[in-house]
Amino acid sequence: MRVGLDVGGTKTDAVAIDAAGNVQARVRRTTGWGPEAVAATVVDAVGALADELALPVAAFESVGVGIPGLVEPGTTRVAHAVNLGIVELDLAAAVAPTLGLPVAVENDVKAAALGAYALGDGTGTLAYLNFGTGVAAGIVVDGVLWTGSTGTAGEVGHLSIDPDGPLCTCGQHGCVEAFSGGGTVARRWGRPGELPVRDIFDAADAGDAEAIVLRDGVAYGISAAIRALVLTVDAGTVVLGGGITMLGDRLMAVVGAQLEQSAEASPFIRSLRLDERVRVLPAGSPVAAIGAALLGAHRDTQEVLAHG
Ligand SMILES: [Zn+2]
Repeated sequence: MRVGLDVGGTKTDAVAIDAAGNVQARVRRTTGWGPEAVAATVVDAVGALADELALPVAAFESVGVGIPGLVEPGTTRVAHAVNLGIVELDLAAAVAPTLGLPVAVENDVKAAALGAYALGDGTGTLAYLNFGTGVAAGIVVDGVLWTGSTGTAGEVGHLSIDPDGPLCTCGQHGCVEAFSGGGTVARRWGRPGELPVRDIFDAADAGDAEAIVLRDGVAYGISAAIRALVLTVDAGTVVLGGGITMLGDRLMAVVGAQLEQSAEASPFIRSLRLDERVRVLPAGSPVAAIGAALLGAHRDTQEVLAHG
């Protein structure tokens, strides 16, 4: 049994999966703030899974953690996890002595990409495109996460698709994230409400001109990111995840219309059948936690190969 955790800004989702990849237990904990509290949350969640299964923690083979922020490839160090109050933290060093288990760490979106790959047919190239406060993608090729030289692979949120577009937090104009990221979209909308993106879709349906512009911008950014991922890595499947997927079919209706427009403009783009490659993750799917659990498995395999 392997453990995977998805450490989010407010909640930590933890699963234990068996050798066949099936979820045997799932618990949720409120994530603590700051390096020590985050490490304590991880230890607590692993203990809770063990309790749920009536097993000792030592019965688990490994722990994998998906966490927002920059994780240097091949290390367990996370940096710039702003929403967790972490500037820098070696998470494995912080929790492994208490847990007594091997601990692997990866960026949460990249972990989710591994999870989405495992939940799919498990072949070819998959891109997982996450739309939360920010926008980023994880790419899995033949079951292996593609991180690039420095971990930047998949940062399509900062691909500028309109030089005259809205200002992005990164300093560029017209980034995918400036059109489709929950943070920027909420700021541009500027009206109070718990779920700004849903409010925008509701207002657009009711004919609000400003909301229509923002909604179509969201779809424009998503369809541009889908095109970029298919044109660069020929992703056979592009899985959409993150908070925005709660819109479900309403989201796909506008994204599908944008993809159709680009197909109408270009026989080449049409030949790529972009719309047939897109899937929306069911809301609440523990995809990042499942991927994190597999991360432990992958790391072990790589170590076995590296050390013979
Ligand atoms: Zn940007």
